[in-house]
Amino acid sequence: MHSNPLRVGFAGLGAIGTPMAARCAAAHQLTVWNRTTRTAAAFAEANAGVAVAPSPCALGDSCDAVITCLPTSADVEAILGGPEGLLQGLRPGSIVVDCTSGDPATSRRIAEMLAAVEVGFVDAPVSGGPPLAATGELTVMCGGTEADVARARGIVAPFAGRVVHLGPVGSGHAMKAVNNGLLAVHILALAEGMVTLARAGVAPRAVVEVLNASSGRSFVSEALVPERVLTGLWPRLFRLALLEKDIGIAHELAGELGVSDPVLAHAREQFRTLRAELGESADYLDPIRVAERAAGVELRG
Ligand code: NDP
Repeated sequence: MHSNPLRVGFAGLGAIGTPMAARCAAAHQLTVWNRTTRTAAAFAEANAGVAVAPSPCALGDSCDAVITCLPTSADVEAILGGPEGLLQGLRPGSIVVDCTSGDPATSRRIAEMLAAVEVGFVDAPVSGGPPLAATGELTVMCGGTEADVARARGIVAPFAGRVVHLGPVGSGHAMKAVNNGLLAVHILALAEGMVTLARAGVAPRAVVEVLNASSGRSFVSEALVPERVLTGLWPRLFRLALLEKDIGIAHELAGELGVSDPVLAHAREQFRTLRAELGESADYLDPIRVAERAAGVELRG
């Protein structure tokens, strides 16, 4: 650990929060809070020197900076409020760095609430998934003032390979939502294309090889399908429900700004239906399984 470590709090030890917090444990003086307390206790057991806060208020009270990584901005707003809430504990001069893939409007409201008690706020959603969180190579998309983002850089450094300042509060969340909207479109489009070619008798491995040397490629064809679908491994690293939430944020943002987004709107409807059918714990690549089943093929090899 650094000789003069930052006192950092981390709220939200989920699929991606856990490896991010583990990186922080090695670099900062870390305190964690998690809604399900036994998860926080198990994390502290596994990571030397980590303290557990009994409430969001206690987390804020014991730290100079708090990182939040919850499903939605509404969840972040909820842990700020109430007698045991984060807002009660945070001291003037501290900062909240919100790594949730949240929504710009709620974040602007949160930033105002925090500014009133002299606490800074940066929306700082991440991309790269749990594997790059574990190796400290996430991309962090920041929205906030120059001064707050400069502070946030040091706070997220243990898990960040790249930190980009995109604009005022909300810009990071807007960027992340649009990125994930594109991810969702690529998943649906690739599933359709690959099952079509499988039905046409073309081997899935050969399809991926050609796509990835051609103009139809994407991160989905270059990494996700070869590593998780063709191998049949299907690890559950990112819940489909969270991706559906992200597409909704991107779609609503486009609507607020008067931008026509028929492609995103269609992807959103499909993901909404899939979330209703597959449930809250389904993985974001499960739409490929659904396409396989509907076409009577398996994309393996
Ligand atoms: P998970 O569903 O795995 O974990 C969610 C975490 O938030 C858990 O610690 C959970 O606590 C906590 N939580 C849920 N609801 C509440 C609530 N109402 N109040 C307090 N705590 C709550 O999510 P991920 O870790 O996958 O994702 C977290 C954020 O990061 C999301 O916004 C997601 O979109 C984003 N993200 C995820 C990526 C991934 O690959 N997984 C990649 C990039 C971004 P408990 O243990 O009690 O359930």
